[in-house]
Amino acid sequence: MVKQDREPGKTARLRRQLLEWYARNRRDLPWRRSPDPYAIWVAEIMLQQTRVAVVVERYQAFLARFPTLVSLALAPEEDVLALWSGLGYYRRARMLHKAAQFVANQHQGNLPASAAELRTLPGIGAYTAAAIASIAHGEVVPVVDGNVERVLCRLEGWEFGSRAGGATLKRRIEELAAQLVDPAQPGEFNQALMELGATVCLPRNPQCLVCPVAPDCKTQGEHKTAPRPRMLSREVAHALSVRTGRQPGQANREVLLEQRAASLTVMPGLWELPALGDTAVPEDQLRMTVRHAIMQVNYYVRIRTVFEDDVEAMTVAGGERRWVPLGEAAGVALTGLARKVLTRAHLLSGAALDAIAPQTEDDVV
Ligand code: SF4
Repeated sequence: MVKQDREPGKTARLRRQLLEWYARNRRDLPWRRSPDPYAIWVAEIMLQQTRVAVVVERYQAFLARFPTLVSLALAPEEDVLALWSGLGYYRRARMLHKAAQFVANQHQGNLPASAAELRTLPGIGAYTAAAIASIAHGEVVPVVDGNVERVLCRLEGWEFGSRAGGATLKRRIEELAAQLVDPAQPGEFNQALMELGATVCLPRNPQCLVCPVAPDCKTQGEHKTAPRPRMLSREVAHALSVRTGRQPGQANREVLLEQRAASLTVMPGLWELPALGDTAVPEDQLRMTVRHAIMQVNYYVRIRTVFEDDVEAMTVAGGERRWVPLGEAAGVALTGLARKVLTRAHLLSGAALDAIAPQTEDDVV
């Protein structure tokens, strides 16, 4: 039972203002067009830590290849990772795949409906469970993501930041979210609150003048926000080595890829361009430079064209290496950086590439 310490009239007004605003201003996003719990689940997992613009493209390609939970469960992990390429944080793809297999085996392919049952599945936490249960099944449970935390803290004048208040603040936020969620339209309300945080109550520049809940907001832009974490910089260099294919009668070209070790914590098992031993690439040997952000690190990447005969001497030995026909490379589980470089070099082709839009330089993967 949720402790009710807000004025009922104030809560009702906030719900009404927020839902009316959402009906007029919601973005037309592909996952909002489907009531299918599986499709909502895929979107919610992708949206964790990846920007909406990137998710829109990958989501449609992913669902085109895996339209049902069972089709995902039956797919080889390598195919799932290949479709995840560019979204980053590949652990999410592996957990989604495992959970789909679990549901296919233990629940006859049907996702449980309640948030409590959903939480028992591998890789589904409180946020994802509440999002699926409220949006797909109308369960009255609050959804609390980073956007909702920020909005509610500003509404109440609570200091918001990564460590401010700790567990006590988190509990207060969850209690408030549970009080506010609209029992008549919990899915719409939860999406409206998240949408407000994503498009109006922005981290650095809240648009209070157009905010539908401004009359109920105690801070209206005058708030304390934790400073943005500092990005680190790192310089790296990779070899782009392309040769004529060895298959008789084939004019296919092949690119040299290297598999990251399965024991690595970041992107284990994915394929990348071999690393150069020397990051100082002479200007006349430089194929391209790319900035690539992973978590809190900006990588300044130099790409050097390396002939097949020079690969061994110039690169650092890592995992297994394979010459992959360029026509097949788009379907390989590439790292985001490898996909970005091959795309910019116009070396990716085929249906898998058509399904996956190129990223911008600032994509965080
Ligand atoms: S009034 Fe401003 S600070 Fe308050 S919820 Fe709206 S956008 Fe956020």
